[in-house]
Amino acid sequence: MPIKGTDVVKRLPEAGKKNCKECGFPTCFAFAMKLASGGATLDKCPYLTAEVKAELEDALAPAIKLVTIGAGSNAVQIGNEEVIYRHEKTYFHPTAIAILISDKDSDAVAEAKIKKVRDIQFERVGLKLKADLIALQHESGDKAKYLALVKKVCASTDAGLVLICTDVETLFAARDVCGDRKPLLYPITKENIDAVIPRVKQSPTPLGVKASSIAELVPLTTKLKAEKIDDLVLDPGSKNLTEGIRDQTFIRRAAVKQNFRPLGYPTISFPCFVAKGGLKEALAASAFVVKFAAITVLSDFDQHSLLPLLVQRLNIFTDPRMPLSVEEKVYDIGTPTEDSPVLITSNWALTYFIVSSEIEGSKVASYLLVKDTEGLGVLTGWAAGKFTGDSIAPFVRKCGIEGRTKTRKLIIPGLTARIRGELGEALPGWEIVVGPREASEIPAFLPGFAANLKK
Ligand code: SF4
Repeated sequence: MPIKGTDVVKRLPEAGKKNCKECGFPTCFAFAMKLASGGATLDKCPYLTAEVKAELEDALAPAIKLVTIGAGSNAVQIGNEEVIYRHEKTYFHPTAIAILISDKDSDAVAEAKIKKVRDIQFERVGLKLKADLIALQHESGDKAKYLALVKKVCASTDAGLVLICTDVETLFAARDVCGDRKPLLYPITKENIDAVIPRVKQSPTPLGVKASSIAELVPLTTKLKAEKIDDLVLDPGSKNLTEGIRDQTFIRRAAVKQNFRPLGYPTISFPCFVAKGGLKEALAASAFVVKFAAITVLSDFDQHSLLPLLVQRLNIFTDPRMPLSVEEKVYDIGTPTEDSPVLITSNWALTYFIVSSEIEGSKVASYLLVKDTEGLGVLTGWAAGKFTGDSIAPFVRKCGIEGRTKTRKLIIPGLTARIRGELGEALPGWEIVVGPREASEIPAFLPGFAANLKK
């Protein structure tokens, strides 16, 4: 639970009664309230002692720490979450999806997996969806072989890396090969933590902390935090999917509801180890995306197994406070001509995506006019007065469609049939046609409509 403004004010100068206004707020109380809601920063008050500043910094930090793996444009941020359920606010950083490459894999297998991370991408509602990380596992016992794999991956892709190696010497030798990428080093355990600490203090990098239970994680993260090593990712050592969901949920609840700092870090999950391939592994990954894992590692994927996972992740990590929307304009579906159908819909991204997909599926080149409804679907947009005859007509006039079509027939969504009359009056010269109620009916409707246009 984040600290309240009323608790912050008790720590401000002269117990919140100095009221000098130097922070830009009229009173210490106003500053405290803004600070607690994230609208101000501690540096605005010049009178905080170092001790109070450190205490407040800790108290105001998100329940789950933000950790960055990788560097540059491919850096992956995880954590920084504040809630258990998305509807309480939003989730901030999507689960990073990693593919596992072992140094026992053949060159051909390793190269194929690298290529998948580089090349398999999908575009949906204007966003690029792809896997994020490559996890490199040392299994062969041959240090040179592992280092060669790390070098090969670095030369082939700039994806972020998770280095999985139980031998500390080899782990840090691999880190030195790719240190500029800030890889996640895993596993840090009670057996190797003392050897790891001085090396990480010398050259900071994120650590994946592994224990055989949640209880065993706590002294490890506490020890690292005391050494000012705080970029941590937790693995509670779950042995199967049931334990995995239980542990992930426990950690999230302890961090968010109890503000229990030793567990206030993002987590890593391994469907590749708990389910070992196939549909079971895909389902385990899906469960971990829903249940709080910040990283999930797959043994392999292809287009067909990755797409549903990416779409699920997109849905879960979409901010429910802000509808996804697309730009208001004319979209060409295929290569439309002056005889092509003209349809109109709202700019909720999901509506646009579904309608444009169905038009593509009909194989009829068309113009799709997308009216700005502030991200609302057509029916909600109509109810809010943003998808009405009076608001659509000016858009049709100014969007440029009148110079590109001679049909002058505008297909409106069947759900908004009631605007037909008012839109016809507001758009003289156009015939308003009521289209299907459901987007899924477009492929059956559009070919016949287009054929009639050409008669
Ligand atoms: S600068 Fe500090 S002491 Fe002055 S009003 Fe703001 S919070 Fe209070």
